[in-house]
Amino acid sequence: MTHSFIKTATGLWEVVIGLEVHAQVKSLSKLFSGAATSFAADPNTKVSLVDAALPGMLPVVNKFCIEQAVKTGLALRGDIALHSVFDRKNYFYADLPQGYQISQFYHPIVRNGFLEIDLENGETKTIHIERIHLEQDAGKSIHDLHPDKSFIDLNRSGTALMEIVTKPDMRSAHEAMDFIKKLRLILRYLGSCDANMDEGSLRVDVNISVHRPGTPFGTRAEIKNVNSIRFIGQAIDHEINRQIALLESDQSVDQETRLFDASSGTTRSMRSKEDAQDYRYFPDPDLRPIVLTEDYIQKVQESLPELPNEKRTRFMEDYGLSRYDATVLVSDLETPLYYEKVLKNLKGWKDQIEAAKLASNWISGELFAALNEKNLSIDKSPIAPEKLAQLLNLIGEGKLSGRLAKDVFEIMIETGQEPEKIVDEKGLVQISDTGALEAIVDQVIKDNPKMVEEYKSGKDKLFGFFVGQTMKLSGGKANPQMINEILKRKL
Ligand code: ADP
Ligand code: MG
Repeated sequence: MTHSFIKTATGLWEVVIGLEVHAQVKSLSKLFSGAATSFAADPNTKVSLVDAALPGMLPVVNKFCIEQAVKTGLALRGDIALHSVFDRKNYFYADLPQGYQISQFYHPIVRNGFLEIDLENGETKTIHIERIHLEQDAGKSIHDLHPDKSFIDLNRSGTALMEIVTKPDMRSAHEAMDFIKKLRLILRYLGSCDANMDEGSLRVDVNISVHRPGTPFGTRAEIKNVNSIRFIGQAIDHEINRQIALLESDQSVDQETRLFDASSGTTRSMRSKEDAQDYRYFPDPDLRPIVLTEDYIQKVQESLPELPNEKRTRFMEDYGLSRYDATVLVSDLETPLYYEKVLKNLKGWKDQIEAAKLASNWISGELFAALNEKNLSIDKSPIAPEKLAQLLNLIGEGKLSGRLAKDVFEIMIETGQEPEKIVDEKGLVQISDTGALEAIVDQVIKDNPKMVEEYKSGKDKLFGFFVGQTMKLSGGKANPQMINEILKRKL
């Protein structure tokens, strides 16, 4: 394992980070009621009597949500509990009409998973997961609509959350950020959570402490609800400096909950551990334990899709891609689908590996740049995968040079036209006719007698000049390999 210690004037420090992630289950209805879950509905329009906690209402567990937690647990290689229990976590808050949150404290549905992250030096590291439990979300209090009133929106009340808790295994901002990137990707592949941090369907609490290497872990601060990966990095960097500064001036770090302020990039105290509540957890008498069978777990296991790391390995093995290229292609849900559609439509290539590599380069280079500029996701690409394949096939057949292909690509992005049609209309076909090319080369040689002399007297570097002149005279259409060969022969 690599160590990323921090060195200051007083010596070395080690950073310790553990994450608590709230992932909203991608379910049409809530964990214990049939009310719809939906982002940005009108306030208090998605609230059943259960969510509003009217007396006498009884919760009924949503099987689909259980399945999503099991799926997630299996994908993170956890142990699925055959018997898990919902507990009441008691506290008062205006947006919690029940007066308790139904959660899993003593017997969570998943224990002991892990996730592999990529370190900056190219190595991988295993981050252990302590538990995943299911719980309901609270409503929302809105304090900024009226000078002396607060508003309550219960739409979110009762929505299912998976709380994923890691062991304190991370040692830097990079590791914590990569963990969240990897986790977000797995959740999206599984479809168990949208994992949109800006819509709040993935929320991260960052626990962080510092200590001298070789000594016990330090006291941690917990930064609540950090809502972007970049902010996680900023919050951690700020905390590292704050905590080290405290300890180096003989003060201590308080165990407290802090808030990240995105506008200043700093954290500030929200409440200290002294105010920590006693939640008086006890099993919810309205709900029976969740009892799962091995058979059920096996069925869920078999339904898991290919996960990002598996896909990456397959792309490296089957298509000969580098680890880096494969990582780029699998880092969202749609790109690998697009890529494999391109591959399916590649025709007439002798070297399959070369073709697969070229397709990967065009997607992560030209296509990503163009989509980025147009602010489009790849599933909305103006160039369908079949058409990108046609373009690459023209390169493979020698009809287009890489340069001409880029020109055709530009037109395709704007018009969505077929590459063949563009090539015909604009007369962009590469000149691969030996006679025609020889005539152009002869002309270049005739036009540049002095350069020819210098070249012949040993100035090898001038070769590029002749290639450039020939290209120019051909209007960019000359077949580059053939020019090289003809020039070498004629000079
Ligand atoms: P609590 O139940 O009080 O929140 P836990 O032991 O469940 O405490 O830990 C919560 C989170 O804090 C976990 O993600 C864990 O990895 C992390 N954590 C625990 N100890 C430390 C520490 N000394 N420094 C940083 N993170 C820590
Ligand atoms: Mg906690």
